[in-house]
This record gives sequence, C-alpha cells and structure tokens, in this order.
Amino acid sequence: MGFEYAPAPESRAIVDIKPSYGLFINGEFVDGNGTSFKTINPATEEVLAEVAEASDADVDEAVKAARRAYTRVWSRMSGAERAKYLYRIARIIQERGRELAVLESIDNGKPIKESRDVDVPIVAAHFFYYAGWADKLKYSGYGETPLGVAGQVIPWNFPLLMLAWKIAPALACGNTVVLKPAETTPLTALLFAEICQQADLPPGVVNIVTGAGETGRAIVSHPDVDKVAFTGSTEVGKAIARAVAGSDKKVTLELGGKAANIVFDDAPLDQAVEGIVNGIFFNQGHVCCAGSRLLVQESVADEVLERLKRRMSTLRMGDPLDKNTDIGAINSGEQLMRIRELSEIGDAEGAERWEVACDLPTKGFWFPPTLFTGVSQAHRIAREEIFGPVLSVLTFRTPSEAVEKANNTPFGLSAGVWTDKGSRILSMANRLRAGVVWANTFNKFDPTSPFGGYKESGYGREGGRHGLEAYLKGADQ
Ligand code: NAD
Repeated sequence: MGFEYAPAPESRAIVDIKPSYGLFINGEFVDGNGTSFKTINPATEEVLAEVAEASDADVDEAVKAARRAYTRVWSRMSGAERAKYLYRIARIIQERGRELAVLESIDNGKPIKESRDVDVPIVAAHFFYYAGWADKLKYSGYGETPLGVAGQVIPWNFPLLMLAWKIAPALACGNTVVLKPAETTPLTALLFAEICQQADLPPGVVNIVTGAGETGRAIVSHPDVDKVAFTGSTEVGKAIARAVAGSDKKVTLELGGKAANIVFDDAPLDQAVEGIVNGIFFNQGHVCCAGSRLLVQESVADEVLERLKRRMSTLRMGDPLDKNTDIGAINSGEQLMRIRELSEIGDAEGAERWEVACDLPTKGFWFPPTLFTGVSQAHRIAREEIFGPVLSVLTFRTPSEAVEKANNTPFGLSAGVWTDKGSRILSMANRLRAGVVWANTFNKFDPTSPFGGYKESGYGREGGRHGLEAYLKGADQ
C-alpha cells in the first residue's frame, strides 16, 4: 500500500514473557485450581503463554483478600496516603512504558505507535489524575465513603487502558478490587500486577484473576462484591444487569456503540477525512466509540469519498511492532469471523463494498480497511456494531436529517461533527443523543473528561469528577 517503507520494528527484547502465569491474589502470584488457557499473538498465531483460568473457588479467594485489605488497611488509610501509592504506580507505568506498550501490541495486535503514544500515556495520566482526587474527595460532590470491594470485568480492545479506567478511581476512593482482563489479552494486566508489587501496594488491594466468561460471571455474582463495573458487549452487559438485579450491588456498564461521524459541506474536508480515518481505523476499529457510520452531506459526498479512498490507500497494514504500521491485526479469529460475517451481510443487502487493495499476511488475523456505500438505515451494517475496520457511509441533506439518522440507533455512546460553524456544533451537540460529542476531532480521550453512554451503550460515567460517583456511597450517607 502506498510508499514502500523499510521495516522499522520495535525490539521485543524488552519484554520478558513467562511460559506460564498464575493468578494475582493477596499480593502474590498463585497457581489457582490448575486449569489454564493459552494467549496468542494475533499477528502471528504464536502461543505466548499459558494463563491460569480462575475457578469459582479462586474468585472467592480473591474477593476474600480484597475484603480483608479493604477493612484492615485501605479504607482506613487517609486519602493522602492512598494517593502516594497511586502516584507511585503512575510513575512506574511511565518508567516501564516501553515494556507495557510492546507487550500490549504483542498480545492485542494493535500498532506499537498506538500503544506507545496513546494507550500507555493515557493509562499513566489516569493514575496521576485520580491520585490527585484521593485526598480531595470531600469536594467531589459524591461524599467520601467508599463502597467496599469492586468486581471489574474488562474487554480486549484497550486492555491496559480499560484496567486504568477501572482501577484508578476505585482505589482513589478507598475501594479494593478484583479485576478480570479479557481472555485474549491477559498479559498487560499481569504485568500491572507486578507493578503493584513494585509499588509496595498493600496485599489484596488489587487482585487480578484471569479466565473467560465463567470467571467474569463468578466475579459479578459473588455475594461479597459491593460494586460491579463492566466494559464489554451489550449482550453480556444485559446478562450482568439481570444477574445483579435485586441485589444491592452498585453497577456501571460501558457497552457497545454505533457512532455517527457527521460531515457538513462547510467542514475543512482534508481534516474531516483524517478524522474519519482516525474514527474508524484507529485500533482496527475495535473501539466502542468508533465513528462507524459516516454521515456526509450530499453536496460534498463524492468529494469526501474520493479523498477518503485516496487516504485509506496510504494506510500501512502489517506487523504491529513496526513503528510505521497504521493498521495492526484483528484481535482474534473469532472477531475476524464476526467482521467477515457482517461485511458479507452488507454485500447481500445490496451495499457496495470498497476495500484497500493489499497483501494480507498469511498467518494471523487480518482485515483490510473497508467502506460500504449505498447503505440505508435498514441495513444491518448501519445498525449493528461490527467492531472492526469497516465504515458504513450514508448521506443527508439538512442538519435535521443528520440528527434524525444519527439518533436512529439503539446505542448512544459518541458522535462527531465536522463543520466550520461554532453555532452549528453547539446545536448539533444539544440534539445528538450521545454521551460524548467530538467537534472537528474524534477519538480524543482525557482523564478529566467523563465518558459513557445513553440507551444500550450502558450507564454510569468513567473519567473526570463524574467517574468518582461510581465508587462512592453518595453525599448524604
Ligand atoms: P464481551 O462482552 O464478550 O467480553 C467482555 C468481558 O466480559 C471479557 O472479559 C469476558 O470474558 C467477560 N464476560 C463474558 N461473558 C461474561 C459473563 N456472562 N459475565 C461476566 N463477564 C463475562 O465483549 P468483548 O468481545 O470482549 O468486547 C467487545 C465489546 O466491548 C464491544 O461490543 C464494544 O463496544 C464493547 N466495549 C465497550 C467499551 C465502552 O467503554 N463502552 C469499551 C470497550 C469495548
């Protein structure tokens, strides 16, 4: 694709992947009940390590450790003392940033330039940000009383970043944690466990248990878990909401999305094209808030599409560890099948597929950057989350039509607006039913800014002052 670039691989010598990993419970790595699963490099299908699969009994041990640490140590410690640990963790993340980025790219498939320049810096920023809150909770508006033990389950698309979004606010507020990373990306969470040891975090404050859906189910339904925080698919989110209904567990759910990225005819088109590319091809489109529906004003649609295709043809796909790579591997064979299946449904429903012509590596899981035109709102590729590098293009004539189409979805996580007019940005932002609306930019994340959805995208907010609410009992208790 595009220019020939000489290979510029980041060395993987900096990471030390062990042949097998146990569970991190009460500050130590333990064997668990003995069953295990493999985690692979999705770019090569090479087996990276055997990872313990936590049983119900293992989860129970982890919850007990978290409860002990909560009652004896963490909830009794002053906010200023807790902050010292969080700052220490944040600094170690920065110091070991290269190692974390390389490991994330190897286990997840995302390009090193994203893990190095986006994921890891924002992870550190989250710990710094919430460290700052730990001794200022009385100004939070949500009280200062922690909830207890938090059970947290996260997905594979931003393994370390989702861990940071969950653990940093929980610890800052005085809660302890049992966290499960996704089964295809457990390695950076296990490296984070080592960082907790290095930071001398009291044993049991953070427990990391690996496993698949059954382990997740054991965490969220454990009777001694006070708070459930989940990021993942809407389907599993609904199952969790049912599982905790009737208990007094507090729940936050961050689920799927099908965001509209809306380009008006007065937008700076080259910038908009960069934003469209960033919106849907960043992280192979494995982004809950991805701009997966492009709504482009009819009068500029042809021009935008022409520029977009030209830009897409310059994207470099391949080795995630190469510093020039823009598009890495799809995270798993299962996800690749889902992307293929939905794209084939797009063909069958009459949309027109265009994809970047490129040689796909023979090993690993790959899908070329793709767009569909001739998409109507009834098409499944306009309604369902594909969670891959596939853009559905629709057109509109008036701002009202854009709003109506953008909101015509069961989701409501994010949206983008591209226009020269500030007044139009504000009026669109008011009318779009989305938790985050980006204007003349897309996929920007900052720890000070709350993030979360409407409708089937979930409930609760993560990030910012609002993110504290999920981990505190409330102002009047
Ligand atoms: P998933 O729901 O299958 O899995 C997410 C996590 O839940 C994994 O750790 C999995 O092991 C666990 N899990 C599976 N079944 C469970 C159960 N019954 N009980 C408890 N835990 C269970 O989703 P995925 O395929 O890993 O991730 C992709 C989805 O996540 C997409 O739909 C995406 O939109 C969503 N996502 C949302 C956000 C957000 O912030 N809103 C962020 C990232 C991903």
